[in-house]
Amino acid sequence: MFSIGMDSVNQHIIPLDGLGETEHLFRFRADDAFFQSYDKGEIKGGEVDVKVILTKKKTSMLLNFDLSGTVKLTCDRCLELYDQPIAISDEILVNYGDETNFDTNSDAVTLSRDANEIDISEFIYEYSHFALPIAHYHPDDANGNPTCNAKMMELIDKYKVEETEKTEDAIDPRWEALRELKNNNN
Ligand SMILES: [Zn+2]
Repeated sequence: MFSIGMDSVNQHIIPLDGLGETEHLFRFRADDAFFQSYDKGEIKGGEVDVKVILTKKKTSMLLNFDLSGTVKLTCDRCLELYDQPIAISDEILVNYGDETNFDTNSDAVTLSRDANEIDISEFIYEYSHFALPIAHYHPDDANGNPTCNAKMMELIDKYKVEETEKTEDAIDPRWEALRELKNNNN
């Protein structure tokens, strides 16, 4: 198996010219700049190692992805960013066709047979999101206590109480707390 290191390259492109019909290993890294270059999605940054094994065949290739690292998410409890560990493995079949069509919801995509490279950015981005847990919380410490921002939690609790007292106002107490925190910092 051939191995090409691409750690220093902040691009996520596999060159296809001259690849023989065998397995090839490529390594990439998705960093803060990568995740921040998208304005959709829940991931606000991260350090994710990406290993891709490309198995080239005559009329198709199979891409095996292996992602592991941490991504930055907004905590649902205190609204601060925290590091969420992720790990996911998946594969996608790339068929050669007339036009490139990456529908990342399907198990197979089409790459123009004239293409001399394949940009795997979209796959890395989508797989990173597939790997997320349903709940986004700061982890608990060794004693089982949440490691959330204590000041934010205090404010949120305070507004929760006030909100239950005046039910007609439906502002999310967490945002109200965030606003107060921002005002105090001014
Ligand atoms: Zn938190």
